[in-house]
Amino acid sequence: MEWTRGDLLGLEELDRAEIEMILDTAASFKEISSRPVKKVPTLRGRTIVLFFFEPSTRTRSSFELAAKRLSADSLNISTSTSALSKGETIKDTLRNIEAMQVDIIVIRHSSSGIPWALSRLVAPAIINAGDGCHEHPTQALLDMFTIKEKLGKIEGVNVTILGDIAHSRVARSNIWGLRKMGANVTVCGPRTLLPRDIEKMGVIVTDNLKDGLKNADVVNVLRIQRERQKAGLLPSLREYAQRFGISSEKLRQFARKDLLIMHPGPTNPGVEITPEVAESKTSVILEQVTNGVAVRMAVLYLVAQARDETKEEE
Ligand code: ASP
Repeated sequence: MEWTRGDLLGLEELDRAEIEMILDTAASFKEISSRPVKKVPTLRGRTIVLFFFEPSTRTRSSFELAAKRLSADSLNISTSTSALSKGETIKDTLRNIEAMQVDIIVIRHSSSGIPWALSRLVAPAIINAGDGCHEHPTQALLDMFTIKEKLGKIEGVNVTILGDIAHSRVARSNIWGLRKMGANVTVCGPRTLLPRDIEKMGVIVTDNLKDGLKNADVVNVLRIQRERQKAGLLPSLREYAQRFGISSEKLRQFARKDLLIMHPGPTNPGVEITPEVAESKTSVILEQVTNGVAVRMAVLYLVAQARDETKEEE
């Protein structure tokens, strides 16, 4: 199979073979980050712009390291330091960036759908680093990579996504990706944070933590997205922690001993997960972060290669 997409916008539009190709490519890139000299010349001379309209630590630094480890030049632009704060529109800003001959734009924005709109507007490759509550494809890819690395497969694995499903782009991208890869997905959380019709995405739905955990091989614990919530969806964070927060005690009662604990970060310690569980033996939260660099190297490489091939054919 050959990778042909010149952008990575979301997982809803990818097929299983494409997801497998990204995961396999990431596996071959992972070793580079453990070398004393963490650099290969693969994307030498390419320019990658990281354009983040929302706060980010992990995703932005992970993309930047991925670009640097492939020898690309990278440039960071954020809302507060760009002319957007002077009233320029995002379209004008991106047109100007395009005029500087960049190759790839990695974008995060609070509005769903922005990466799709921009990919039709400008020539550089667009990679979605999170659009509103919609998709966060590289997060779901690194989550799947971690599951495969830890459990040897994704097909048939029982994954429970726990918490604020309604506002989570991580949940949506994971559901699309995991279902295509043959995993069984359960979503669990308070009714007010479970979108209506979510079962249409092919998942089991429950608002009972015990049911959510009983068959799970993996639990992906989500952050409560306070910045995206309307008032009144949660009685209080304390009550949420009591009913849905993952603690050692609840794991002892409801889950298998070797349940794999994942979290996309940043965590709200003591709300959705206790620090003890986040740092426990079966938590792979930091391994997810390590794998994120390899997955983003794979995505940058595949997208750049597809663009080169299209240019050669023209
Ligand atoms: N870092 C992830 C995101 O940007 C998860 C989160 O913020 O809760 O969506």
